[in-house]
Amino acid sequence: MKNYSENRFSSDPVDLLRRKLIFSSAAVILASLLGVKGSIQDVFADDRVASLSEEETAFNAEKKIDEIETEFSRLAETVLPQLNKVKSEKMRVMIRAAFEVFEKNKTNPAKKSWSQEIVPYGKENGFTYIFCDMGGRSSMFNGAYRILKLSSDFNPASVGILSFLAHELTHVVKDNHYRRTVPEHVYRAYWSGDFVAVISEEAEAIAVQLEILNIEMGDKLDCIKTGSDRTDKFLTEMAEHYFNKDWNSFVSFVEKWYREKGAQIFNADLMPVE
Ligand SMILES: [Zn+2]
Repeated sequence: MKNYSENRFSSDPVDLLRRKLIFSSAAVILASLLGVKGSIQDVFADDRVASLSEEETAFNAEKKIDEIETEFSRLAETVLPQLNKVKSEKMRVMIRAAFEVFEKNKTNPAKKSWSQEIVPYGKENGFTYIFCDMGGRSSMFNGAYRILKLSSDFNPASVGILSFLAHELTHVVKDNHYRRTVPEHVYRAYWSGDFVAVISEEAEAIAVQLEILNIEMGDKLDCIKTGSDRTDKFLTEMAEHYFNKDWNSFVSFVEKWYREKGAQIFNADLMPVE
């Protein structure tokens, strides 16, 4: 594993290009779809490496982050004044928190360049955007390294796709919480997993994205088109359960979904469940 820590604060595009991200897909395919958390091994396991072509490495992460910031800020301007449409006070708090960590990260000097170092426990920091091929998934967050991975073709012009950023930002908010409250060895053990999920947290992250979509799209969630059938299926299935069933039934559905995808399940104290 190369260490780019000396470039931590560099925004030199050449440095950015040097960071050819590679991916392994065994874990990714197993872990499957969207919006889930996963460990760093997903990025660096080099058993099934697919190096990006020169053309692909010219992918302009900086430009992509600018586009994301523009589109997500626009979404915030639409959603936040209409937050009263969200029935649950808890969800309103979570949506605000997701937009807040996003806003705060705009001035994070490390947002474009990842040091590849574990971020010391107890420190919140911001997060670094990483773009890579994610085997059909849109997004993933790793708290230990504070990286928010987005698919190279992440399209912020699609509000359905953009909602996955809101999902991951909810994990950022939760990680800030864990970093203050969970013993370090427990925290480390949690993030050492390949594909980990706290079910209540996943349910909340999905609810955040659905409430945002509901404000943005009204009741048209059942015909959302993002350009990815898997994404559309995930959102419509989740929406059907979230808006039509009670919270516990929704959480059960989320749990079933994550278990089927092979996630290691943890409780809200980051202790493994069964
Ligand atoms: Zn998630």
